[in-house]
Amino acid sequence: MSNNALFYLTSETMPVVSHADGIHIWDTDGKHYIDACSGAITCNIGHNHPAVKNAMVEQLDKIAFSYRTQFESQVALDLAEQLVELTAGELDKVYFVGSGSEAVESAIKLAIQYFVCQGQPERHRFVSLRPSYHGSTLGALGLTGYEPLEAPFRSVTQGSIKVPSPDLYRYQESSVEEHITSLLEQTEQAIQAAGAETIAAIVLEPVGGASTGGRMVTQAYMEGLRTLCDRYGCLFIMDEVLSGMGRTGQWFAYQHFGVAPDILALAKGLGSGYYPIAAMLARGSIVEQVSQGGGFMHGHTYAGNPLACATGQAVIEVMKSEHLLDNCTQRGNELREKLEQLALKHPSIGNIRGIGLLQGVELVQDRNAKKPFPASFNAYAKLTELAKARGLLIYPRRSLDGLAGDHFLVTPPLTVSQTDIDDIIDLLDGSLSDFEHLVA
Ligand code: PLP
Repeated sequence: MSNNALFYLTSETMPVVSHADGIHIWDTDGKHYIDACSGAITCNIGHNHPAVKNAMVEQLDKIAFSYRTQFESQVALDLAEQLVELTAGELDKVYFVGSGSEAVESAIKLAIQYFVCQGQPERHRFVSLRPSYHGSTLGALGLTGYEPLEAPFRSVTQGSIKVPSPDLYRYQESSVEEHITSLLEQTEQAIQAAGAETIAAIVLEPVGGASTGGRMVTQAYMEGLRTLCDRYGCLFIMDEVLSGMGRTGQWFAYQHFGVAPDILALAKGLGSGYYPIAAMLARGSIVEQVSQGGGFMHGHTYAGNPLACATGQAVIEVMKSEHLLDNCTQRGNELREKLEQLALKHPSIGNIRGIGLLQGVELVQDRNAKKPFPASFNAYAKLTELAKARGLLIYPRRSLDGLAGDHFLVTPPLTVSQTDIDDIIDLLDGSLSDFEHLVA
């Protein structure tokens, strides 16, 4: 065990970070890294952006913190307004928090309280997918469909009803359409078995990130879940903590499908790594009902503080003025094409999935059989270390309980250029060669 005082798992050989600029990071030994995963898929506008730094300093010169029960803050009002605009008004109320888990936790509590206020207190159960990741606090963990994370805490989480998630790579049915139909049927059966009158919401990541490494849903699946929510009178919650704020080429991933949620959780890209800020967005009718019932019984000290909101505003301004949604789509298409070319050369690439600058790659031992590496081999960690040695940062995920093999995400800041994509692909090419040499 490391003898430093920090209480989280770190390797003994972890480099010490020094400084960063755009997609580049340097450690204190002077080693250079390309950040091809935006840290934890967070630094959407890249590091050290002058416009954000200036906006933060400007806000610090006025006031960093004011408490929401004592003052309104213009930046919080404005940022809320801007977020509503980004949903084209489909979600019209905003609640600020500090992290993705808090945003999901807020969504859970709002849904429960909404039904209490409606005289349906028995509606407090949730349906979510396996695999999925919704955060590390107890409520969000209860939704999370990933055994090793949730199992130790089952005695205190209200575990959700887990249904299988779409798997467009290893599905067993004869077509994607049949696969999706079967999943929707299983979901409906699970709702009926639990008692539809007990279900508060179905919860979904429209594009899997830290959980499934870029797994996609389909239009029919999104429409099918919306229909189930409407049929059984429950809410549709989307967790866009990772996929939101432009990561997929739209402000929110749900906009690719035209199927809107009732409640949305948002985080990472909103603060883009400059300051912790997250949000829950909800339909006004839900908030109205809860307000009439005495108000939302929830709140965190740092929620919506001026510094956080000024950061969020500056990030959105950069996204707009630098046309980062368009850049995300164009560079995302180039990245995808080049990853597919890499797959022609590297047999360890089994599947490439995702959208925009959220691209996931699954590693396999045998491509024809779609056979994953044994979990104990830790292929994800080995490749990530080899890439890091070459100065490339990718986001690794271990294999998921036999539901998916080892995989990694390539999710650079949305500011990447064509040349940056070429550099990332060159380094990844070398790293995959090193990896395949190791496993040969
Ligand atoms: N939901 C999703 C989809 C996530 O990817 C994450 C983090 O990776 C979370 C929730 C939790 O966010 P945080 O780590 O900010 O609490």
